[in-house]
Amino acid sequence: MVEELIQHIKNKLLNNEEALTFDEACSLALVEEEYFLDLISLSYKVKTKYNKNGVYLCSIISAKTGACSEDCSFCAQSAHNKTPISSHQMIDPQSLLKSAKEVEGSGASEFCIVTSGRGPNKKTFRRVLDAVYLIRAHTNLGIGCSLGILTEEQARLLSKAGVNRYNHNLETSRSFFPNICTTHTYEERLRTAYLVKENGMELCCGGIFGIGESIEQRLQLAFELRELNPNLVPINFLNPRPGTALAKRSLLTPFEAIKIIALFRLILPRSILICAGGREVVLSNLQPLALLAGANALITGNYLTTPGLSPKQDLQMIRDLELPVLDYD
Ligand code: SF4
Repeated sequence: MVEELIQHIKNKLLNNEEALTFDEACSLALVEEEYFLDLISLSYKVKTKYNKNGVYLCSIISAKTGACSEDCSFCAQSAHNKTPISSHQMIDPQSLLKSAKEVEGSGASEFCIVTSGRGPNKKTFRRVLDAVYLIRAHTNLGIGCSLGILTEEQARLLSKAGVNRYNHNLETSRSFFPNICTTHTYEERLRTAYLVKENGMELCCGGIFGIGESIEQRLQLAFELRELNPNLVPINFLNPRPGTALAKRSLLTPFEAIKIIALFRLILPRSILICAGGREVVLSNLQPLALLAGANALITGNYLTTPGLSPKQDLQMIRDLELPVLDYD
């Protein structure tokens, strides 16, 4: 029965290039552990059929940290959570340029400027624009931004300044979102995602897993994303931060996390799937398996409020897998 299901999906995705249905994804999500390697083998084949074989690297910098007005229950940067992070105001453009040059030297081809907050205020936005112009003038990096909810004017100005892509995650399914955030709506998040596309920037849009959502809600997010058709999909795993509402939640198991990656690859065959925050703690020694199960990008270096692996360690893992590091086109 399971063998037949996997064979059926294989035919659909690999031979006929047909899309997975929600019911098929639900059935696959329930396959027992003994079929785990069959699932990974399938998602690996789908990854290599629809994508260049290799790994994209991206670095992020927290240009403004903490003191966020929003109440996202997983986030150490929310002012509603009592977390021991060191907040700082917006970094000046020259310092952002210095970080960008370091990132370029470590082999990443993309640099993403991230600021905490519901959306950028005038001063923050001006500094981001100045930094974008500087980085474009002095490096060959592609530039991403993640600044929260945008106005139409802000989306237009970012695109005009040469921002290649904008990250704005949906975080979770529409049905679960009110459980993790009450200060803004799912619709507001979607609106910014569409603004990004309307203004010609690439959309980077994914979610965070292990925050209390059901397996079905994970799949609902994947299908919501399929409608949006983002170029990149970050997959974050909860690394419970002290002082947040989710501080006591257990980590996902490595197998659960790998299964999420495999299912997202099958539902979103052409998107760049980024294995992002929480991968070190959740996947532990199974991190290389994520790149075989369907992920084809990594955030390398530190995350916003937690340390990550060094780019050197990530590059070694990629070399061990005999995969090339890819440049974003
Ligand atoms: S996820 Fe973003 S919007 Fe939500 S609290 Fe954290 S910084 Fe603020």
